[in-house]
Amino acid sequence: MNPSFIRHLNALKIFHAIRSNPGITQKSLTDLVGTDKTTTSSVVNSFHRAGLIERVRQTERSGAGRPSDGFAISPRGGLLVGVEIRGGHVMLIAAGLDGRPQTSLSLPMAEDQEGLGDQIANGLRGITIALGRELSEVRAVGLAAPGGVSIDGRVTEPMVSGLDRALKEMIEGAIGAPLYINNNSNGGALAELFFARGGQSDDFLYVETDAVNDGQGLGSGIIIGGALHRGSNGFAGELGHVKHPTHLPLRCVCGKFGCLCTLVADKWLLERSRIAGNEVASMEQLLDQASLEVPAALAVLHQAGTALGQAVGNFLNMLDVTEVVFGGSLVRLEPFLRDKLRHALFETTFRPIAEPLTVSFSRLGEAPLDGIAIALDGCTNDLERETAPWHGTKPIT
Ligand SMILES: [Zn+2]
Repeated sequence: MNPSFIRHLNALKIFHAIRSNPGITQKSLTDLVGTDKTTTSSVVNSFHRAGLIERVRQTERSGAGRPSDGFAISPRGGLLVGVEIRGGHVMLIAAGLDGRPQTSLSLPMAEDQEGLGDQIANGLRGITIALGRELSEVRAVGLAAPGGVSIDGRVTEPMVSGLDRALKEMIEGAIGAPLYINNNSNGGALAELFFARGGQSDDFLYVETDAVNDGQGLGSGIIIGGALHRGSNGFAGELGHVKHPTHLPLRCVCGKFGCLCTLVADKWLLERSRIAGNEVASMEQLLDQASLEVPAALAVLHQAGTALGQAVGNFLNMLDVTEVVFGGSLVRLEPFLRDKLRHALFETTFRPIAEPLTVSFSRLGEAPLDGIAIALDGCTNDLERETAPWHGTKPIT
């Protein structure tokens, strides 16, 4: 493996370990990340010189001897801004370099790309003023877009169309910070990696449905080797468009029939209920019925659980990762589809892959963290940029 890549990976793990465990000592860092003492010390010194972290006095001593200093992300280390497109609104969330949200702003979304660019640039100015900070302190902006996002930052149909590289150039020109655009399911996977796992997990599959836009979306994000796998074009993990044999003649938003999202995503659960003769007006009503064990409601949710389990099992047979996390709107469906989902998943997955497999539902909650996670990922991995936290620091060995 390329030595500079290993150095970067060590730096990244140590950075996320400090970010997730404010006050952590060098000894605990070494134990947690698995680097040797010299590497930990070299990385920590380098971060300290760059102003990314600060020393924190430990009040508790563990065992005999004087308490050792701990480290935390410096509040002056920089800002990250997440931009989320949610239900016709554009929401900006500012966070410290530790990823913890500090303030947010929500506006009705402009109709075209130029308007959106102005909204984001003006919103960034407003949000930094509200925090009493400078625009120059923004290290990265992450835009979580519902829909496919190509490697070069073009957002495809259907939910937000017409966004392309010009948006990136417009915003970067206006604010002087890099804009990273990614799909919201990839943002969800990165949020799991950074905020639920402290950046320490290597491989897992994240699967979510999206209720905040029009409820049609089912997507996934693939974390391999501690990093997001985007594929050659940027569209890896489009689980919603995997074809499933148990389908009704419902045309997916992609124009095709048989897509898995038409069995699992919120909008389609309502549609399928209606087709089966159970007129439900909202997901709340469907879930109320399911709580009362109305057979028609349970049938639709059980079918969704089985179809999702089968598709994810097939996906795992190709990927061979040891963990699957279900998030987004699937979390509130958990009580009604978990058993069918797990059964189908373990039935479908090749036994040696299934045996060590962990299946869980996300506990991150409703906080909009996708955009911040995309910003944090871009900022810590885009080494060409001078906004990268360790740009210009001495080579780390
Ligand atoms: Zn489709």
